[in-house]
Amino acid sequence: MEGFSVNVLEATCLGVSIALSGLSFYLYKKGRTTVDKLDNAPQFITDKSLKAILKHTPGARLEYVVIEGAVEPAGRPLMSQYNRDAVGVLRTFMVKDHRLLWNGISRSWIDDERIVHKNIDAVPFLLVGLDKTEVRVKSPLQASGLNMEITHERFHQASHSLFDIMVQYLSGEKPRGQLEIEKMLRVGTNLIGIGELTLDTDGILTLQPPSNGSQYFLSTADFKTLRGENEILAFWWKVLGITSALAGAAVLFWVGLRYYRQLKLRWEQEQESREFNRQLAEDLRLHTNVTGPDDHQDTANLCVICLNQPRNCVLLDCGHMCCCYTCYQALPQRKCPICRQNIVRVLPLYQV
Ligand SMILES: [Zn+2]
Ligand SMILES: [Zn+2]
Repeated sequence: MEGFSVNVLEATCLGVSIALSGLSFYLYKKGRTTVDKLDNAPQFITDKSLKAILKHTPGARLEYVVIEGAVEPAGRPLMSQYNRDAVGVLRTFMVKDHRLLWNGISRSWIDDERIVHKNIDAVPFLLVGLDKTEVRVKSPLQASGLNMEITHERFHQASHSLFDIMVQYLSGEKPRGQLEIEKMLRVGTNLIGIGELTLDTDGILTLQPPSNGSQYFLSTADFKTLRGENEILAFWWKVLGITSALAGAAVLFWVGLRYYRQLKLRWEQEQESREFNRQLAEDLRLHTNVTGPDDHQDTANLCVICLNQPRNCVLLDCGHMCCCYTCYQALPQRKCPICRQNIVRVLPLYQV
């Protein structure tokens, strides 16, 4: 489409909003599906009846269920390296580097952190019900929602000499220190597990990531909280999706409006040009011995803009006769080049 141009900034805004709204709606749909699946998942008490239910289920498998139990190690548990009393089945140890970075735009120091070391240890574990019924938990690291307890946290402050401080000011980077965090899923923690439940031929119950693609959860929070968190997350993805789609629509509207204005201006110019030529032809016909604008070669009467064509139009309302019609049409604004008054109308000029 001629004249329908999108500049780099508009194209970038449009691209970002399309990508962002697409991603947001995808994540919203995914989040909403998760909430619906959670609503439809049957909740079972971890006791002897669980085995009986699975024995009577085709394939001894329940696709998506909610169970609850206390964490117990299947073998030797993990020990905390810092807290003698902490015994668990999952352990993460992380070292984060904290530093201040100079931001030239906001002209302030901004806190920045990055993980410089991460270590995860896990041992097989079970969820145990009140009557000691055990459910083996498979692939716990694939599960979402697992907020483990902090069993150790320590910040090692960086020490600086005067020379270091000077170098830091010049480089725009001030190390603050390192934070060590150890987190554990402790033995005895009450946990809800949401996933696929199976009973194998040896009579062992296993909770595992669902084979139908549903989200696998292990959480220390209760079911209602977990469901609520997922619902809120889906809601915010929806808000972001709608906002970015509206931003994209606003950019498109803006481009469309500009295109419409360009079309309107071109149409007005064409109409004006037709009217100008019609009037010129009529005037030439009515007045005999009229010298047409094109044959006038008096240099004093040349267009002040191109200094080539004769002046052949009158700008109204100011009445200045200073340019040729071609230059008038090329004016960036409809303002008289002599007095800067708005041009309301233009009339042909002929000399007798
Ligand atoms: Zn001119
Ligand atoms: Zn003027």
